[in-house]
Amino acid sequence: MALKVAVNGYGTIGKRVADAVARQPDMTLVGVTKTRPSFEARSALDKGYRLFVTGEGKAQDFEQAGLTVSGGVEDLLREAEVVIDAAPGKIGGANRALYDRLGIPAVFQGGEKSSVADHSFSALANYAACLGSRRLRVVSCNTTGIARAASRLSSRYGVRRWEATLVRRAADPGESKKGPINGILPGLDFPSHHGPDVQTVLPGLPIHTTALTVSTNLMHVHVNQVQLERVPADVEELVRVFSGSPRFKVFEAGDHVEGTPGVVEWARDLGRPRYDIMENVLWRQGIHLAGDEVRFFQAIHQESVVVPENVDALRAMFRLETDPLRSMAITDRTLGLSPRGA
Ligand code: NAD
Repeated sequence: MALKVAVNGYGTIGKRVADAVARQPDMTLVGVTKTRPSFEARSALDKGYRLFVTGEGKAQDFEQAGLTVSGGVEDLLREAEVVIDAAPGKIGGANRALYDRLGIPAVFQGGEKSSVADHSFSALANYAACLGSRRLRVVSCNTTGIARAASRLSSRYGVRRWEATLVRRAADPGESKKGPINGILPGLDFPSHHGPDVQTVLPGLPIHTTALTVSTNLMHVHVNQVQLERVPADVEELVRVFSGSPRFKVFEAGDHVEGTPGVVEWARDLGRPRYDIMENVLWRQGIHLAGDEVRFFQAIHQESVVVPENVDALRAMFRLETDPLRSMAITDRTLGLSPRGA
């Protein structure tokens, strides 16, 4: 029997997670929610998803807009075995009381405090520790990107010290009220919240992060400087470690992929839905090894990198698959991600 999944909140993350769940052989998407009628509500119905009203929304507003709703959020939750909460940051935490009252397990997103769930989750970092949990929180996009890379390097070489500078996008492409539209905003907190957040999935990782926000909406870029305990033979070995892991794409010099615009163009040429890039993106020429110190750039697509993690979180919670690599293989195949070693 396929796992019955509800998605509460159908925005940037929720609509992508709903599409991903709908593609899984061991899951069924029971329905999605919207707070008000919109093009996204209409496209959910066009895809054949059942639509339910959530938050302060009113069913008659949807009916007046010609959109058929199947009930309120509680009706949806009563039909499902688990809910993925993809409401805006902090609202997911408030939604938890409803999930608790109905006794439904839940997956939350990175905009919530880690205390919302039993564990924070990142598939490569701590899948096994999350088996059987009733509440998980998939860490944010930046944290997911660092946790993936850190889990690879720490398990293979050991990490003595990790310094990361996060160059963050200002807004998602569909947003028009966020900025800066021309400027660079240093995050004045040391460390930025990302380092401690990585430690929620990789406890004890000696990481320190700094963040700044720049006027782009395509992707984040991380500048990583890592001191290892054991020294890799050469950059080729590091490339094999990254590209041999799920959810990494390493571009070669000959690909001529210049920066985040080039990465987006690559995804568009592949025909990726919404040009989603769910892999950590690295450049071979952007990996440098000097003694025990590795420096590398990675680009992270904020809108989609957490999508496969949400799917794996469900498999871990319900023990649909106890082997993390097997769960990731199913997820990545169904979502059309780059095969390992590509
Ligand atoms: P969003 O604003 O694009 O979408 C949120 C959706 O939830 C909207 O459709 C909104 O109408 C709906 N909503 C409002 N109130 C609700 C309620 N009470 N119950 C249910 N739904 C409600 O937000 P998003 O960018 O998709 O972010 C969702 C979560 O994912 C946040 O925790 C965020 O921090 C996290 N996240 C976002 C990104 C990103 O780049 N956008 C990346 C990783 C993680």
